[in-house]
Amino acid sequence: MALRELKVCLLGDTGVGKSSIVWRFVEDSFDPNINPTIGASFMTKTVQYQNELHKFLIWDTAGQERFRALAPMYYRGSAAAIIVYDITKEESFQTLKNWVKELRQHGPPNIVVAIAGNKCDLSDAREVQEKDAKDYADSIHAIFVETSAKNAININEVFIEISKRIPVVD
Ligand code: GDP
Repeated sequence: MALRELKVCLLGDTGVGKSSIVWRFVEDSFDPNINPTIGASFMTKTVQYQNELHKFLIWDTAGQERFRALAPMYYRGSAAAIIVYDITKEESFQTLKNWVKELRQHGPPNIVVAIAGNKCDLSDAREVQEKDAKDYADSIHAIFVETSAKNAININEVFIEISKRIPVVD
């Protein structure tokens, strides 16, 4: 069976749930007291999809206030970036737009961008409308999903969508 290796980095404000998304994807669990990301962590997960093995090399970054200078080290060589915002925090959606600009200016030219509106289980506290985020994602040709690391919504899906968008090079 063919094996594809894909480097994926996660970007977004501190507290939006980047580490929780990675933890849900890799371990299929959720820890409400997850340690705030210190520096960055690296994890891998291999999933089978349509007769191929997809090995994701996942770089989870520290919060934006600290890592702006470090960011290129995460996104350099990445096939894809998952930029995460928190649907209950409008500000985190504005930060996401800055990440998109930074990737367009300094990131790998063909990097696949996926936008994840996380914490969709907290829709009572919603500040970012799904349609607004979807329209924005469409305008930059990005994948868009609302996710919940807590309730395991769309977590595997976002990784599979990324893999589908990345051309196979033989
Ligand atoms: P990071 O700084 O972006 O890596 O965010 P964390 O993964 O550390 O998560 C920040 C906080 O949000 C933690 O208290 C998590 O338990 C919580 N959190 C993460 N994802 C979700 C989610 O999908 N739903 C809810 N309700 N809380 C979440």
